[in-house]
Amino acid sequence: MSKSIELSQTGASVAVTPVAGSGRLLRQFIFIDEGQLQEAPTVQELLRPLAPVRDDELCETILARFLDDDALYALPVIDAENKPLTLIDRKHYIEFFSKRYTREIFGRQNVLQLLAYEDYRNGKPTVVEDTCTVEDVAKIIIDAGMQHMVTGFIVTRDHGYAGVANGHDLLNIITQRKQAELYYLAHYDALTGVPNRVLLADRLEQACRDAERKGKLVALLYIDVDRFKQINDSLGHSAGDAVLRKVVDRLKTCARRADTVARLAGDEFVILMENLADAGDVEIVARRLVKLMREPIELHGHSLVATVSVGSAIFPTDDTAVSALLAKADAAMYDAKSKGRNGHRRYLPDTAMYNPAKMLLENDLRQAIERNELVLHFQPQVDLATQTIPGVEALVRWRHPARGLVPPGQFIAIAEESGLIVPLGEWVICEAFRQLKAWQAAGLQALRISVNISALQFHQRSFPAFLKAQLAEYGVDPGLIELELTESALMQNLDEVLQSLKEIKLLGFSLAIDDFGTGFSSLSYLRRFPIDRLKIDQSFVRDIERTPVNESIARAIVALANSLSLDIVAEGIENPLEKGVLAGMGCTEGQGYLFAKPLAADDFVQWLAAHRSNNVVRLADPRAAQRV
Ligand code: C2E
Ligand code: MG
Ligand code: MG
Repeated sequence: MSKSIELSQTGASVAVTPVAGSGRLLRQFIFIDEGQLQEAPTVQELLRPLAPVRDDELCETILARFLDDDALYALPVIDAENKPLTLIDRKHYIEFFSKRYTREIFGRQNVLQLLAYEDYRNGKPTVVEDTCTVEDVAKIIIDAGMQHMVTGFIVTRDHGYAGVANGHDLLNIITQRKQAELYYLAHYDALTGVPNRVLLADRLEQACRDAERKGKLVALLYIDVDRFKQINDSLGHSAGDAVLRKVVDRLKTCARRADTVARLAGDEFVILMENLADAGDVEIVARRLVKLMREPIELHGHSLVATVSVGSAIFPTDDTAVSALLAKADAAMYDAKSKGRNGHRRYLPDTAMYNPAKMLLENDLRQAIERNELVLHFQPQVDLATQTIPGVEALVRWRHPARGLVPPGQFIAIAEESGLIVPLGEWVICEAFRQLKAWQAAGLQALRISVNISALQFHQRSFPAFLKAQLAEYGVDPGLIELELTESALMQNLDEVLQSLKEIKLLGFSLAIDDFGTGFSSLSYLRRFPIDRLKIDQSFVRDIERTPVNESIARAIVALANSLSLDIVAEGIENPLEKGVLAGMGCTEGQGYLFAKPLAADDFVQWLAAHRSNNVVRLADPRAAQRV
C-alpha cells in the first residue's frame, strides 16, 4: 500500500510516494533480521539536535558561530513558532561575508533581512518529518540532483524544528542497508525467499560437523519438479513462477520445523534434515512429499499437477565428504526420474553417478563454438526523441542441431559454471567486431554495438589485452563499441576493477552498467568508475505507468545518471505507455519489443531500412505538414 507524505521545501509542498512498501526492488534498502528483510528505519536515526538560529539574530553572530566551529557545515534558521525557515550553508555564508562591504552592510542586520536580499542565494533545503523513512529522504535527495548530500536537511517533529541530518550519514545508512541486501541476494532465492545454494552449502557443512559430534545423521533430499519445462513453456513464465512458489510451500509443509528448504536452481530444490536419529525419517518425509505433490495446484482458475522426483543421501552413511553428498542425492534423484518419475529413490552404492541431461548440454556447448553453432542477434536501441537508431545490443543465441534456437538464459549459467563463458564471450566479441566491420563495408550508417561481458570474462587479467588485440585484428572504431557489465561484476575486487576499467577506457571503448538497479552499487564507487551509461533494468520498466514504485526508482536512476553525467537507456519497453513515461522523465534511449525483438543480422538491416522509410514518409507527408 502506498501512503503519501507531505514534504515542505521552504514554502513549496511536494507529495511523495514512499519508496518503502512493497516490491522486489525495496530489498535494496532493507536490513535483514534472521532471514527476514526489515522495514526501513525512520529519519530519527539520522537526527542531530543542532541549536538553530532565530530569524531575528544578527548576521555577525552567525558568522562567529561558523568561525568558532570548523565542523559546522550548515545552520538551520527558525522563526518564533519554532518552524524551520531555511538552512544556511557554511561555505556560501562565509564566502558572502568575506567581502568587507557585505560585512558592513549586513553584519548588523538580522538573518531575515539577509535572506530577503536577492544577491544572497542559499538554495532551498529539504525539510522532512522525523517519521519519514530514510528511503523517502534518499529519493527526495536524488530527485533534487543530490545537492543536499553535502549540506544536509532539516528534520521536523510535529512540523516544528527538531534538528538537522547530514547527507553523508544518510549515504552511510543506505550503503549499509544495500550491503545487507547484497547478503540477502547472495544467500536467498529472490523468487521464493528460501535459502539458495550458497546458504545451503553453509548450513550443510555446519550440520555435518554437529552430527559428527553428536553421533547423529544428516539427510539431503534432492527434489526436481517433473516436466517443469512443459509447464513453463505452455503456461508462461509467470505461471511457472507461481508453480515454483507453490512447490516451496508444500516442501515447507512436509519438512520438519528445523529443516532447511533451499532452492538450487530452476526447478531443483533441497530439503536438509539435521539432527536425525533414524534414517527411516527420510523415507517418511519423502513419501509425504511425493504424495502431497500429486494433489492438483490451483492457478488462475486452472488446476494442474506438478509431481516431483526425489533422491536422498545420508551423512555419514553414503559419504563423509560434504561436497559429494549433494552429488549423490542428485544421482539418486536422477535414478527416480529414470524409473518413471513421481517417486523417491535413496542413494545406493550402485546408483549411477551422473545426470546425463546436464552433462550433455555442457559437452555440446564445448563444441558449439568450433562447430559454428553460435549466432548473434541484434536488438535496436532507439532515440526516444528523434526515433533514430544510434545502436544495437548484440545478444547471443545457440543454434543447437537438435534443440533449435536456444536462448542465452538456458546456457549462459552453465557456461559460467564451467568456465566456458570465457571462450564463448571471446567469440561474441570477435563476431560483434566482424559484424560492425561488415555493416560499415556495406555502407550502413555508423552504429554503436553493445556487447554483454560476463563477470568471469571481465575479471580475467588478460581481458584488456585481448580487447586490444582484437581491435588491431578487425580495425574497428572502439568508440562504436560499448561493453555492458553488471553491477555485481563491478562491485568485487574494487581496486582491480577500477584498474581494468581504466585500461579498457584508454583503449577507447564505452562502458555501460547493465540491469542497473537490481544489484549492489556503492554510490561513491559509481562516481569513481569511468562509466558512460546506465541501463535501467526491465523490471522497473514493466507497467511503469501504473506502478509508482517502479516509476520512482526509474526517476531516481535518471536523476543519478544526470548528476554523474551518464547516458541512460531503458530496457524492455513493451508498449507506448511505458515509452511515454520514460521519455517524460528524461530517459533518452529505449530498447524493447515495442520497437523490435532481437533480430538476425540480415533481418536487422531490413528492419532498419523499413524503420527509416517509415520515419521519412511521416516527415515528408504533405498532409502531416499541413496539420503542423
Ligand atoms: P540483458 O543483457 O539484460 O538483455 C536483455 C534481454 O531482454 C534480452 O534477452 C532481450 O531479448 C530481452 N528483451 C529485450 N526487450 C524486451 C522486451 O521488451 N520484453 C521482454 N520481456 N524482454 C526483452 P535474451 O536475449 O534472452 O538475453 C538474456 C540475457 O542473457 C541478457 O540479458 C544477458 O545478460 C545474457 N546474454 C545474452 N547474450 C550474451 C552474451 O553474448 N554474453 C553474455 N555474457 N551474456 C549474454
Ligand atoms: Mg545486456
Ligand atoms: Mg539488461
